[in-house]
Amino acid sequence: MKDLSTSTSRKRVLSGIQPTGEVHLGNYLGALRQWVHMQDEYECFYVIVDQHAILGDGDPADLPTRTIDTAISLLSVGLDPEKCTIFVQSDVPEHLELQWLFNTVAPVGDLERMTQYKDKAAKYDSIPAGLLNYPVLQAADILIYRANAVPVGEDQRQHLEMTRDIARKWNARYGELFPEPDAIIPEVGRVIGLDGDAKMSKSLKNTIGILADEEETWSRIKGAVTDPKRIRREDPGRPEVCNVYSLHKLLSNPAIIPDIKEQCMTAQRGCVDCKRILFDSIIDVIAPIRKKAFYYQQHTDEVCDILKAGATRARSIAIDTLSEARDRMGLNWTSAL
Ligand code: ATP
Ligand code: MG
Repeated sequence: MKDLSTSTSRKRVLSGIQPTGEVHLGNYLGALRQWVHMQDEYECFYVIVDQHAILGDGDPADLPTRTIDTAISLLSVGLDPEKCTIFVQSDVPEHLELQWLFNTVAPVGDLERMTQYKDKAAKYDSIPAGLLNYPVLQAADILIYRANAVPVGEDQRQHLEMTRDIARKWNARYGELFPEPDAIIPEVGRVIGLDGDAKMSKSLKNTIGILADEEETWSRIKGAVTDPKRIRREDPGRPEVCNVYSLHKLLSNPAIIPDIKEQCMTAQRGCVDCKRILFDSIIDVIAPIRKKAFYYQQHTDEVCDILKAGATRARSIAIDTLSEARDRMGLNWTSAL
């Protein structure tokens, strides 16, 4: 058996983001903020998963731009290519082959029970097989680096269980190779959408983008759904069912939260004024990110170089893991000669 030990004694991390649209506060609070924190302590791999994104209904002509824009967002929130590896999934084709190897052990029944599959499948007349197999590719994305930990948002908990299960089943049949990675999920939970949907999501267009300018940010917040029963300005509000309040709790200074709650419940502050305070809190968070993005938007060559160098680094590991998996599964027929 080959020596697949990692080059450092640090534990390995992998996580991904889809280039399906503007990177938003749900991505930032649920995942990216952690990615930045982890790059000092772990050996981190962060992948822009364009082969997952093609399942969506985005225009293929826009995908290259969306991929670069996603990379710009990652660099602007503070990922440092000197400390972590950032790359694009389709630059490392070994993920796809490992996915096929995993398809031989992944149970269809479990895939059909995935909540995200059921939600998304409901929107199709004819469900693409890729939608069902999405978590198998995700398992390959993670396990090809033999990652120990995966920092993700709460919505990915079930998929991570699937990855662990695939690793367990494959190891049981072919011998221990893949670690069972831990999901690292921040306390913020699932960030809700501006439309009141249970999840802020690129594909649902209910987001606040981390690179949006002030005018755009205000127009999104202004249109956010609040307590549906607070119809008139003088009606008392119910912070516990209000979208804007839940964003205040995540983004505003904790010292002002009791006042936000009190003024809403006693109808002393209207929704528009409450939204203005939230707007200021959001601008405080995104202004430094936007400033960095402005630099990368002017230097896209630098962004491409970072992604290419990342792919080279990632690929050297992916090739070794895949080769070992192929050997164990008897796919290296020349070994019989
Ligand atoms: P899509 O709608 O295309 O699936 P998305 O907004 O869900 O896009 P992803 O690229 O699928 O974004 O996810 C990137 C990371 O952000 C994942 O770790 C995911 O768990 C996390 N994430 C996405 N949306 C939220 C949210 N609303 N709250 C917390 N974490 C989130
Ligand atoms: Mg998603």
